[in-house]
Amino acid sequence: MKLINIINRLGRAIEFLLTGQTDFRVITSDFVKAEIIDNEVQAKMAMQEVNAYLKKNFSISLSSPVVLRLGEVKTLDWKARLAARFKHLGNYTSKQLGELLTHEITIVPGLERVKFQSVLCHELVHAFQVERGLLKHFKGYREGMSRWAEYHFLCDHHRQDEAKRLKTFEMIIFGHMLNRILSYEARSGRQATCRWLAEMKAEN
Ligand SMILES: [Zn+2]
Repeated sequence: MKLINIINRLGRAIEFLLTGQTDFRVITSDFVKAEIIDNEVQAKMAMQEVNAYLKKNFSISLSSPVVLRLGEVKTLDWKARLAARFKHLGNYTSKQLGELLTHEITIVPGLERVKFQSVLCHELVHAFQVERGLLKHFKGYREGMSRWAEYHFLCDHHRQDEAKRLKTFEMIIFGHMLNRILSYEARSGRQATCRWLAEMKAEN
C-alpha cells in the first residue's frame, strides 16, 4: 500500500515538473484538502482578497481594469519548463488602446487557492509597475519586486517553505534581486522599500 502511494506521489511530482501542470495537487505543506481554483468565478473572488492584501500591505492598487483568465500559460519546450520549474504558472501582458490601458493576467487552472493567489499577487504587481511606469529600465528589480510581494503573501499565509524557494530560483538574477530587496526592507522597513523601488531611475 505504502509503495503505491509513494509511486503515485512521485509520478505526480514528475508530471508537474515536466508539464508545469497542476494535476499535482500535493503542494501544500500541511496536506489539507484545499480549495482548487478552476473557474473564473472562484478566480475573481480570490482576486478581491489579493487586491485587498496588496492595498493594505504594499499600498498597491490599480486604476485600470484587469482581465483575469484561467488557461494555458504560453511556455517554451519541456526542457525550458523543467528548468523553470514553478515559474510559468502565471503570465502578465498589457494592452493599450488609445488612452485605455487593460491588464491581462492568465493563470493555469487547478491551482490550490493560496498558491493561485500568490501567483496572482505576483502578476498584479507587474500590472502596477506598468500602470505607474515603475522600474522601466530595471528588469531584474521588476521581477524582484513582484517576487517580493509574492514572498510576503506566502509567508503571511503560512507557506514559509514555498516562500523560501522564491529566493533561490534562478539565484543569479531574480532570486538575487529578491534577496536584495528583502535586505533593504530589513534595514529600512516596508514603506521605505516601496518608495525606493518607486523612485529608482535610470542613471543616464
Ligand atoms: Zn514576474
